[in-house]
Amino acid sequence: MNTPLAPAQLAATDRAHIIHPYLPGTAEERVIMTGGSGCRLTDAEGRSYLDATGGLWLAQIGHGREEIARVAYDQMKQLEYFTSFWEFSNDRAVELAARLASLAPEGLGHVYFTSGGSEGNEAAIKMARYYHHRRGDTGRTWILARHKAYHGIGYGGGSATGFPVYHEGFAPMMPHVSHLTPPWPYRKELFGGQERTPEQVTNFLIQELEERIAEIGGENIAAMIGEPIMGVGGMLVPPPDYWPRVREVLDRHGILLILDEVVTAYGRVGQWFAAQYFGITPDIIVTAKGITSGYIPLGALLVGDHVAEVLLRDHGFPMGYTYNGHPVAAAVALANLDIIEREGLLARATAIGGHLHRELESQLGDLPIVGEIRSVGMMLAVELVADRKTREPLPMLQPLLPDVIRRESGVIVRDCAHSLVLSPPLIMTETEAKETVTAMRSVLERTLPTGE
Ligand code: PLP
Repeated sequence: MNTPLAPAQLAATDRAHIIHPYLPGTAEERVIMTGGSGCRLTDAEGRSYLDATGGLWLAQIGHGREEIARVAYDQMKQLEYFTSFWEFSNDRAVELAARLASLAPEGLGHVYFTSGGSEGNEAAIKMARYYHHRRGDTGRTWILARHKAYHGIGYGGGSATGFPVYHEGFAPMMPHVSHLTPPWPYRKELFGGQERTPEQVTNFLIQELEERIAEIGGENIAAMIGEPIMGVGGMLVPPPDYWPRVREVLDRHGILLILDEVVTAYGRVGQWFAAQYFGITPDIIVTAKGITSGYIPLGALLVGDHVAEVLLRDHGFPMGYTYNGHPVAAAVALANLDIIEREGLLARATAIGGHLHRELESQLGDLPIVGEIRSVGMMLAVELVADRKTREPLPMLQPLLPDVIRRESGVIVRDCAHSLVLSPPLIMTETEAKETVTAMRSVLERTLPTGE
């Protein structure tokens, strides 16, 4: 048994041994979480936090649910692991697959399990190429994606990711990936500089899509991958007709649509899947995060029956993970979905998300630094600007605003591409919503639009 370390030792040991994503080796500060309950977290020093980001955009049901711990304990005693390769399976994975198929849009009745979102996007991209290959359409290797997209850390999803900063130093990235303009109506410079109606924004993007397909050759394109609402890009909400029209174009060219719903699935936008929110049926939906609310790693691809039928021909789909269909993760996911259903968290995401949006409007709407406030359900963003009139983006601030907000008030928010973003547990209360926005206002009202 390890002896528990005192807070100062924990921090020093962390600095000595852990490589944290996006943290320089010279950074002194550590926030070492030791407990969680509902929307609240506690660190090793005994400080309390309000989690307005749901960790990294999950924690649907909130922290510290004993019911989930019991399910994991019982399942570990029963069967902690066995492979799902070949003819092997386990009862929990079977139950979860059937449950997901019943929640998914019509026709997505097959499930391929992973351990997270990055693995999911790797699997989806390979699946799309392989689907065409098995049908004899071997030239279809290209993947369409968008600038400002985030699809994880692999070389497939990582290449589809549309931020140069994620590629720098990792080259060469995967060839045959082409990036399109993101649906970000507020950034009118992307659309010729004038204010445009949502329909005009869609027209612009559809024309670009058609032109790109003509350039590459539709017969060379395997799939388009996209987040229904772009998270890391700054919670970019497309015009309502964008996805249905993209779907129509892709269908005409035999190009598969992969929706990366790693963030948006399992209630975050007030529906099980954002595909349902936008009224489309993709060929593959990639999910992770909210499937277990983060209690244990798991991901699941929901695969169209027409795609699965091809993949399952002859010797089947030749790609698997050690942890495909992990029984403990599947048991936890089932219990998590039970809670989302029992507590009506889809409707709650719409209601409390709406409340949080109104709170942002009323407390922050008058600040010169605030450009646009946008949201769907419990995905919210406040885009910051140097000049409200020209919409010039705010320069990077040092120290970073989320750090200042956390140190001053204990409220955890995040910044993404010039926006402050929120994605709290779906169980957040109105009091916690107010506390979150008040903490943001207290810092933002002292922050000059120029970033000084
Ligand atoms: N796709 C999207 C849209 C994401 O936001 C993320 C992570 O934030 C991923 C994929 C990668 O998922 P993971 O971190 O579970 O590998």
